[in-house]
Amino acid sequence: MTQRFEVAIVGAGPAGISAAYTLADRGVKVVVLERGEFPGAKNISGGVLYGHDLARIIPDFADRNPPIERNIVESRIWYLTEDGGYNVSYRDRIFESERRHNVFTVGRAKFDRWFADQASEKGAFVVPSTVVTDLLRDENGKVTGVRTDRPDGDLEADAVILADGVNSPLAAKTGFRPEPAPEHVALAVKEVIELPEETIRERFNVGETDGVTTEILGSVTEGMNGVAVIYTNRKSLSLCIGANLADFAEKKIKPYEMMERFKTHPMVAPLIRDGKPREYMAHWLAEAGYDKIPPLYGDGWLIAGDSGMLFNTLHREGSNMAMVSGKMAAETILEARKTGDFSGSSLRDYVRRLEKDVVLPDLKKYRRFNSFLHNHKEIFTTLPPAFGFAAREMLTVNGVPKKDKQKKIWRNLRKDHSLLSLLRLLRDARRSV
Ligand SMILES: Cc1cc2nc3c(=O)[nH]c(=O)nc-3n(C[C@H](O)[C@H](O)[C@H](O)COP(=O)(O)OP(=O)(O)OC[C@H]3O[C@@H](n4cnc5c(N)ncnc54)[C@H](O)[C@@H]3O)c2cc1C
Repeated sequence: MTQRFEVAIVGAGPAGISAAYTLADRGVKVVVLERGEFPGAKNISGGVLYGHDLARIIPDFADRNPPIERNIVESRIWYLTEDGGYNVSYRDRIFESERRHNVFTVGRAKFDRWFADQASEKGAFVVPSTVVTDLLRDENGKVTGVRTDRPDGDLEADAVILADGVNSPLAAKTGFRPEPAPEHVALAVKEVIELPEETIRERFNVGETDGVTTEILGSVTEGMNGVAVIYTNRKSLSLCIGANLADFAEKKIKPYEMMERFKTHPMVAPLIRDGKPREYMAHWLAEAGYDKIPPLYGDGWLIAGDSGMLFNTLHREGSNMAMVSGKMAAETILEARKTGDFSGSSLRDYVRRLEKDVVLPDLKKYRRFNSFLHNHKEIFTTLPPAFGFAAREMLTVNGVPKKDKQKKIWRNLRKDHSLLSLLRLLRDARRSV
């Protein structure tokens, strides 16, 4: 016999669980289907999560023993050359006190599981080891449920939330959204390196529960449009490095080899010295941006999180976009439930909600950012050595007058960059943010 729920959710990531929690909290009969052995088993992220948005779903989350690794008190941005790099950082006492847990690190395997447990306690059915293989539709094309890989695995539902992440075999099969083109996704690898707690405290100059995030641009992605990060966990560091998939294909660079080279960089190697590699993973990131967001609703269905390309590359905000969109998908369904109308014209209110909140306005604001990086490869190729040259010259005391050094730096910069191209870079940078 086909089972019936009011709402079926595909995927137990932050988007799916936020939707499930919000619905179950209001007494809706909701099921979450997750292909991993447990929620989080298949999920990776650099590991930064956002307290403000989690609190919108579970206001007292901090009292429920969440698996927080470190509370972030300092953000660093590095621009690396082959042999060195620039470091800009900001630390603030406010993040140790009233804005504690504004940003914190988590391991997704533990966090997603904890988050799913909170939804289960509210009454959501979270079913792991279950792959949604197709969508059920009626004769008019309205989605009426999901087909799973379990025997007798069809589930009927008034509405289905597709929270299945960026890499969606279900999208490829059902066409509920287009497959992202290689230039619209990044491929990232992540390595977790175990270190003693004390070593992390010393190397990053932080207290017992505090941590640092480091976002890295420059030569480390070997000429490709990409980024690397180092995040502090309690007893480990998360290192991620990734680049645009189309760039990987063109350059024929292997991501794991790029990670190995990254680990030998003089600003990275001392931080991970004597560390023990513990985990290694690879995943896609949804980099398409605002202009490539697919239709987010239809008759009987809604898309939340990465599956809808709701990812802010510049601010590495994906989990919060997922949580907020999941919550809003749930709220749209709660509203539709009042009239029993789950048609596309009723569920379209979802987009209005996303527009009124931070999700769509933020993505719209940065709609040019990905193409800016894509069109200005000099950020990853010729500018890092030019900037490195400039710093070396100015920091080397060798009897050469500073005026002569400045001329030398300018000549070196102009070797690969015309004045017009530099002005264009500045103009496009300003427009992209
Ligand atoms: C290397 C890396 C670093 C990142 N760092 C950060 C960071 O520091 N901070 C941040 O905010 N974001 C970060 N992100 C992005 C962040 O991970 C995503 O934005 C976020 O996980 C999106 O949540 P989601 O719920 O939409 O999708 P996901 O977390 O991908 O969850 C989707 C779930 O659906 C399941 N699923 C898929 N298909 C099916 C199916 N057919 N049947 C059943 N289950 C299915 C998957 O197993 C998965 O559990 C990073 C991403 C990567 C790859």
